[in-house]
Amino acid sequence: MMRGRFAPTPSGLMHLGNARTALLAWLQVRAAGGSFILRMEDIDRPRSKPEYAARILEDLRWLGLDWEEGPDTGGAFEPYVQSERTSLYLEALDKLRSSGRVYPCYCSRAELMAVASAPHGLASEGPVYAGTCRSLSPEERMEREARKTPSLRFAVPAESMDYLDLAAGRQHFPPGAGGDFIVRRADGILAYQLAVVVDDAAMGITDVLRGWDLMDSTPRQIWLFRALGLVPPQYAHVPLLYGPDGERLSKRHGSVALSPMREAGVRPETVTGLLAYWSGLLDRPEPVKPSELIGGFNLSLVPRSPVRVGERELSLLTA
Ligand code: GLU
Repeated sequence: MMRGRFAPTPSGLMHLGNARTALLAWLQVRAAGGSFILRMEDIDRPRSKPEYAARILEDLRWLGLDWEEGPDTGGAFEPYVQSERTSLYLEALDKLRSSGRVYPCYCSRAELMAVASAPHGLASEGPVYAGTCRSLSPEERMEREARKTPSLRFAVPAESMDYLDLAAGRQHFPPGAGGDFIVRRADGILAYQLAVVVDDAAMGITDVLRGWDLMDSTPRQIWLFRALGLVPPQYAHVPLLYGPDGERLSKRHGSVALSPMREAGVRPETVTGLLAYWSGLLDRPEPVKPSELIGGFNLSLVPRSPVRVGERELSLLTA
């Protein structure tokens, strides 16, 4: 049976882009008669707020989406909140350590990176890590260890990675793409890449549908699955939404967050209609309920190139 998930980070209000991902992930699962799982990815503690988590749940319900397992409903794989699952991540880290797949890194650039958050585009990480600490001799390690607590990096194999993306088609990443990445920061904070893999495996997720901005994370996650002796899910990355000016859809395009729309009296069907229209599921942005889209859903309808939303369409969202 298909098991899909929506895994928001409660670091802000849910906006149209997140809602579109949630809707498509939900439709993929509902069309296949599977189970939908909601997981709160609050591993980035300083950025996450319980108020946001509560709002996300309300926004999803308001849209007409539901889930079989989640932070509020519980389920066979609870807890569904990352901050309560640390012991599982540490167990996986131990495994990687004892199989020699991670190495200590003493470079300080590591501290500057917000590895606990999902890297929405690797550019946010700065240049690819050159692998400086990968080949330190035991003496060099000891000498550095005395001065500094290391972060832990995963040694990416020198092989290319290919996988078939159900929405974006065949993907190819050259050997070492993205470089060796951090799985635990020097301050002990665990990385998004590790947590997401441990959780998707532990929760029996078969299908991951998410935005293109996480495409570069996928080879890293597949390497981690393999290193832990686990089978990766099927991935489907959907193109992002852009505003009329060609920039990523954001606050600058007006009201794009869901709860203010909800509070201003916009109808959820209007939002769903637009999300479906931007996803190739409707010919016109007419009001619709998510449940009405299940019958005609097919991932192949979702465009493969970035979607630019129109001024007039956005104006439908001001009540
Ligand atoms: N929690 C991540 C985010 O908010 C998404 C993780 C994923 O879908 O793999 O961007």
